Amino acid sequence: MSHGSLYVVATPIGNLSDVTARSKEILSTVDAILCEDTRVTSKLLASLAIKKTLIAYHQHSDDVRVDEILARLAKGQSLALVTDAGTPGISDPGGKLVHSIVIGLPDVAIIPIPGPCAAIAALSVSGFPTDRFVFLGFPPHKKGRMTYFKELAEREETVVFYESTHRIEKTLAELEARIGDRQVVVCRELTKLHETTYRGTVAEVTAALKATSIRGEFVIVCKNST
Ligand code: SAM
Repeated sequence: MSHGSLYVVATPIGNLSDVTARSKEILSTVDAILCEDTRVTSKLLASLAIKKTLIAYHQHSDDVRVDEILARLAKGQSLALVTDAGTPGISDPGGKLVHSIVIGLPDVAIIPIPGPCAAIAALSVSGFPTDRFVFLGFPPHKKGRMTYFKELAEREETVVFYESTHRIEKTLAELEARIGDRQVVVCRELTKLHETTYRGTVAEVTAALKATSIRGEFVIVCKNST
């Protein structure tokens, strides 16, 4: 029996109209959809009028769940992998599952269905050089945090990273201590109602953020050190 396929499907990062025609087609035709949070994906599917079996796969999923997924693929099923927002595997649990499939079932076709990604969206409006950039995910909360910002400040490429509403003020303060008056772009709530892009030094951006709102999801882009 031939192996199935895994489609790694990007989904909107806020605006449901950003779902692509191809991702809609794939989500409607696969045997089941692997998702991070079934409530989030149910909402997306309802907006697309798609009814499908959902299988939870998140950062705490155990080996039993991975084995179930591998068994489905080994039987020839086609599965779609989505996460709560954006491109699976980019700072979310998607990448771990893809790795398990590459190792466990090397004959399974793994097919990207590209679409939104917060880091790429922010880079595209940054105006900073993007011929070379480095993506650093989320800053660590404790261990390795100082080294993270030190290395970030030393990079010669444009740097892009993620932060949540809970830690944005703390992170911007630490960033300022490291990069001083270098230019940054901070994108808040991309594609959503309160989408705002702040440009300037970290101090300027922090003041502007506080004057509007520090609520939401953030991407920070820093101009290189040269
Ligand atoms: N896989 C996703 C992607 O392709 O962008 C990223 C998942 S990561 C768990 C979630 C983080 O991405 C958020 O904390 C935020 O830093 C960033 N993010 C996601 N959606 C965003 C949006 N609409 N506006 C700004 N940042 C966003």
